[in-house]
Amino acid sequence: MLFFRILLLSVAAFAKPNVDVVIIGGGLSGLSAAKDIAAAGKSFAILEARDRVGGRVLNVNLLDGQAEEAGAEFVGPTQDRVLALADSLGLTTYPTYREGNCSMFRNGTLTTYPFQPSSIPPLSTDVLLELLALQSGLNSMAAGVNTEAPWNHPNASIWDNMTVATYLDSKISFSDSRFLLENVITSVLSTEPNEPSLLYLLAYIAGAANKTTIGTIGRLINVADGAQESRIDGGTQLLPLKLADRLGAKNIHLNSPVREITLANGQYTVTSEKKKISAKQVIVAMSPPMAGRISYYPLLPAGRDQLTQRMAMGAIGKAIAIYPYPWWRELGLNVQGLSDTGSIRVTYDNTPNDASFGAIMGFIEADEMRKLDDLGEKEVRAEVIKSLVGMFGYQASNPTRVIIQRWDQEEFSRGGPVAFAPPGLLTDYGPHLRAPVGGIHFAGTETSLEWAGYMDGAISSGERAAAEVIVALK
Ligand SMILES: Cc1cc2nc3c(=O)[nH]c(=O)nc-3n(C[C@H](O)[C@H](O)[C@H](O)COP(=O)(O)OP(=O)(O)OC[C@H]3O[C@@H](n4cnc5c(N)ncnc54)[C@H](O)[C@@H]3O)c2cc1C
Repeated sequence: MLFFRILLLSVAAFAKPNVDVVIIGGGLSGLSAAKDIAAAGKSFAILEARDRVGGRVLNVNLLDGQAEEAGAEFVGPTQDRVLALADSLGLTTYPTYREGNCSMFRNGTLTTYPFQPSSIPPLSTDVLLELLALQSGLNSMAAGVNTEAPWNHPNASIWDNMTVATYLDSKISFSDSRFLLENVITSVLSTEPNEPSLLYLLAYIAGAANKTTIGTIGRLINVADGAQESRIDGGTQLLPLKLADRLGAKNIHLNSPVREITLANGQYTVTSEKKKISAKQVIVAMSPPMAGRISYYPLLPAGRDQLTQRMAMGAIGKAIAIYPYPWWRELGLNVQGLSDTGSIRVTYDNTPNDASFGAIMGFIEADEMRKLDDLGEKEVRAEVIKSLVGMFGYQASNPTRVIIQRWDQEEFSRGGPVAFAPPGLLTDYGPHLRAPVGGIHFAGTETSLEWAGYMDGAISSGERAAAEVIVALK
């Protein structure tokens, strides 16, 4: 085996590389890198493990030509990169449905309340004051965190030594505040509060920003003026599909899981199950945990590998119940729901813009997802329907179809929406997150300075990695 590798590398040493850049991963980060590399007149090849592009962005096509998103779905203000990409591809957005009342199922009681821009349900004054204090405390701590190097903040080691749960425990006295804050963490990161470090959460909040605005929790969780404000007509997977079309099918190799990247004589050989391509530079465009499953020769620095060993994906599933029409709208409901029980704790109206059918989408996250890991489709479906009936009544019990996407079971994602940093990770290994190693560059939404965890962050990470490569190729 070793003999053959040496032989192969010796032959490669005398050959011209096949392309300037090999991009590993055909998600939005890899495709965005390719777009800029092509624009700079450099040659590239994308090696994508799956039989499709898009990664964590996936449309499920329905019989009538409509689509529902099983992965990334919403876009919002200050997500300039994704909005610009949509526009450049001729895609339009429409507002997430918000007319009528929101629903909260708590302590066995269903409460409905009018949609408010702040996403806060009606609670006692004491609880509201506690929540406001917590929210503004977290926002002002986040405002001082530089997303380029959160580990350089004067309080970095204190904040990175504790989990989000430890911080909340020290600040929360009302169970309603705990319910809402825990719901926020779980729905934003798909972790329980005892998984990520406080420093990581603060950097995530700080990143919900563009060049002219600062990040806030409100921007992460709100529908109005927040990350859930709008949807893309036809579904978000049109973004990677149309981008891939522009890049040309001959440059994109599907069904090609990369297993090995080898450097010899100044040239990289990237070996996938289907193809071997040589290049001057490489972009690894995926989450750190996925990047850690590739073998690198020579070995990557110890710190980079320790980072990929420690960053973990959130646990997430998405369930979409389809109905002949959005019957809840007649009842004055917008199915923006919160719950303290069952598999689904957060829901949205996923009806398409033309309302040709009705759809309620619910996230299954963190502990709730883990509980269902060993169950079959039928049992998960039953749990989903039970949750929806609890939140919206008996009419929710008869969907015509339930789409269930379990991201933790996807070989080339193993969770979502994003890989998070547990305590100690950022301060011990943070600088290895996006630092190139020789000609190997790291993209993927997790490496973005703005909107890490989102499609917007994926795009800007690809653009940043492409800029690094273009400089290196000069
Ligand atoms: C359920 C869910 C809901 C979400 N909701 C939203 C939302 O509403 N709004 C939003 O903006 N974002 C949302 N996100 C997050 C968003 O999907 C991601 O931030 C973004 O798609 C990440 O893109 P990426 O290119 O960085 O990574 P990925 O999309 O993960 O792309 C990486 C690619 O690399 C491929 N790959 C992996 N290993 C290999 C290998 N060894 N060889 C070759 N290829 C490999 C994968 O197949 C994949 O195509 C959501 C995600 C999920 C899962």
